[in-house]
Amino acid sequence: MKRTLLSLSVLLISLGAWAQTPKYVFYFIGDGMGTNQIQLTEMYRASIQGRLGIEPLCFTQFPVATIATHYSASSDVTDSAASGTALAAGVKTKNGYLGVDPDGNPVHNMAEMAKAAGKKVGIVTSTAANHATPGAFEAHQMDRGMYYEISQDMIANGFDFYGGAALYNEERTYDKQPAAPIRPQFEAAGYTICNPTEFQAGWKDMKKVLMLPGEGQYISYSIDAVNEVPEHKADHVTFKQLVESAVTFLMKDNKKGFFLMAEGSEIDHACHSHDAATCIQEVIDFDEGIQVAFEFYKKYPKQTLIVITADHETGSLTLSPHNPGDLARLQVQKHSMNVLSSMLRKQMEERQDILSWEEIKTFLGDELGLWKEVKVDWEDEKMLRDIYEGTVAKRKSGSVKDLYADNAKIVSAAVGLLNKRARVYWVGSHSSGYTPVFAIGAGADQFTHKTDNAQIARDIMRVAGYK
Ligand SMILES: [Zn+2]
Repeated sequence: MKRTLLSLSVLLISLGAWAQTPKYVFYFIGDGMGTNQIQLTEMYRASIQGRLGIEPLCFTQFPVATIATHYSASSDVTDSAASGTALAAGVKTKNGYLGVDPDGNPVHNMAEMAKAAGKKVGIVTSTAANHATPGAFEAHQMDRGMYYEISQDMIANGFDFYGGAALYNEERTYDKQPAAPIRPQFEAAGYTICNPTEFQAGWKDMKKVLMLPGEGQYISYSIDAVNEVPEHKADHVTFKQLVESAVTFLMKDNKKGFFLMAEGSEIDHACHSHDAATCIQEVIDFDEGIQVAFEFYKKYPKQTLIVITADHETGSLTLSPHNPGDLARLQVQKHSMNVLSSMLRKQMEERQDILSWEEIKTFLGDELGLWKEVKVDWEDEKMLRDIYEGTVAKRKSGSVKDLYADNAKIVSAAVGLLNKRARVYWVGSHSSGYTPVFAIGAGADQFTHKTDNAQIARDIMRVAGYK
């Protein structure tokens, strides 16, 4: 099947697809998705089949693949705001700045250019719709934390489709001052605020869309939704749903084409937590959204460009599995570190008493396979036991807030141990490791050389004819 997919791509390209100016542009950004996050996911997929090597994702089979640098104007290690700005507008800026140059002047981005050229524009993300990466295409603010102001910029832009897993600071300005609720302002500007189900039922009559998951507004990880933690599944919007809905809506009465930026944001968050199993599921979720674009490309090969990259690498992820069984150990983990922490917290609250070390061992055994599928030697057990003695065992003296931090500590150490047994290692947060670039379709041949985040933006603008 994979071979068919690749040979089809080659066939379509050989038909002259690259020579055209793309009418439809898909720009996928995997937040924190360095080359090793992809490698981890593909090797894991082979490992659970009991073999060495990789089981490729869809987007890694695209005919163009290269690497990019992403240093910002203030650091060799960028944040999402500065790299987002470079990826959106082709201008390097300082970390924390969003849609402005290092002096604070607004910079014109490709979504605004596409809109000015009469194209439909969509911006979707698996995190908050006004978070840094989407914000780089939506707003011009001196601080990425100005969520309320970013929402106001979203309304002023009037893009056709916004979608995310939440909307931050709906009633409070950057200075924490109470402000008029933002949702009625979206509605007054012609937006229908809906979840995917409501969208399905009524999209034909909608003028503009702000898609949010519903009451919960809880940003959940794919691993938790896939494994059906009820409260997470109910509020979860998959990346695929966001991309599918955006494409459906952008194609309505479409004459001049569209620009869609779609961010897989939770890859970054999982990597900040040094949680490999959760990261893998996020990369798979991202790939499933890209498959929607690939299906679209197969329908309009001469008119579609798909570019995939990342804003930076997160976690300084290092991989050294030797045997097919190494990465497969991660299979036992069915919930993110966050959810495991709340599960443990719930047990502690329900018990109204100190959980014994044996009970903690049972929990970590059931959830992470420790002492079962995953070997725990005495040094590791001592490490976990010391954390237990210093935190969980002292539960009665701690406040609820401390309690949360405490159970998070033992869960995080246990997930760390599982990662180590899978031969996956983490060092810190954002790194300067190269980011990957993949492309297919009209104009993809302009992305064949080693590049840079700002250069990718300038190349997309040139290829798509955005000014
Ligand atoms: Zn980022």
